[in-house]
Amino acid sequence: MDKTLKLRAPAKINLGLTVLARRTDGFHEIESVMQQISLADVLLFEAVSGSGWHFVCTDQNLSGSDNLVCRAAALLEMQVEKPLAGVRINLFKNIPVEAGLAGGSSDAAAALMGLNLYWNLGLDQKTLLKIGSILGSDVPFCLNGGTALARGRGEQLSILPSLPFFWVVLALPNGLRVSTADAYNSFDTGRIGTPSLQPLVEAIKTGSKSNILGWIGSGFTNTLETAILPGSGLIQKVKRRLENRGLKPVLSGSGPTLFMLIDNYSLACMAVRLVEQEGCRAYLCWTNIRDSQEWRYV
Ligand code: ATP
Repeated sequence: MDKTLKLRAPAKINLGLTVLARRTDGFHEIESVMQQISLADVLLFEAVSGSGWHFVCTDQNLSGSDNLVCRAAALLEMQVEKPLAGVRINLFKNIPVEAGLAGGSSDAAAALMGLNLYWNLGLDQKTLLKIGSILGSDVPFCLNGGTALARGRGEQLSILPSLPFFWVVLALPNGLRVSTADAYNSFDTGRIGTPSLQPLVEAIKTGSKSNILGWIGSGFTNTLETAILPGSGLIQKVKRRLENRGLKPVLSGSGPTLFMLIDNYSLACMAVRLVEQEGCRAYLCWTNIRDSQEWRYV
């Protein structure tokens, strides 16, 4: 086989996140409205001699066999009994690691989709979602894309209408990384608040930009923002400073990324400058629309 395939693995933000009780399996029950954005890693699948898969990554720290791409490939290989053509999976990392943007989960989802296509396995979406949920709670969402309400440990999805287009400005406090597991293990139960996501879901269903912005602008969108997490002090400081400059940043997942939804390109560019002036890394991106599927292909 002599072909190449390139797929995008987009990041997600949590427009809202409510963390509920810890379950007997150690995971927390959550409710989250998740939104895919344009910032993406890229996976290039290319033919090599021999059989089976090989893996290369632009980030040396992520080149080991514990990369979620390798775990996805190994799981998929186990489902198939026929000999598989040789393929090298090249992962080009763009999404910051341990940033609350689900980069690893999205890479795993793209690996499942890509190898299913490359090896012509014909696995349907339901099967991919099942394999994906073994790899991680966010992988099913990353397979679907767009906008969704996630429940359970994040793997039970209700697809929502695509969010109206917004610019998304990400602010990453420099040098800060937060492990999702540490965040969930260390959050202070005394300070938990659980935002109701219902008004946000309604606003998305009616496509009301002003209600979506109004809900996010209320500032209380994420249980984990009220908890004491690794890096909370710095995140809150950056948040307050950006608020003082007229922006409305909120936390994505367990952070440390703060994001702003903005309706207007000039304002988004201005937000990027303000974020950089606060000593943070800034990314200007936008919300992806699920229906077009254009986001999948490079
Ligand atoms: P989430 O938002 O889903 O909680 P995150 O964005 O905070 O995740 P990731 O960047 O996905 O975090 O990485 C989480 C961990 O997974 C890292 O510690 C990293 O070592 C490991 N990992 C495995 N494969 C990958 C990958 N392809 N990209 C990034 N991290 C990976």
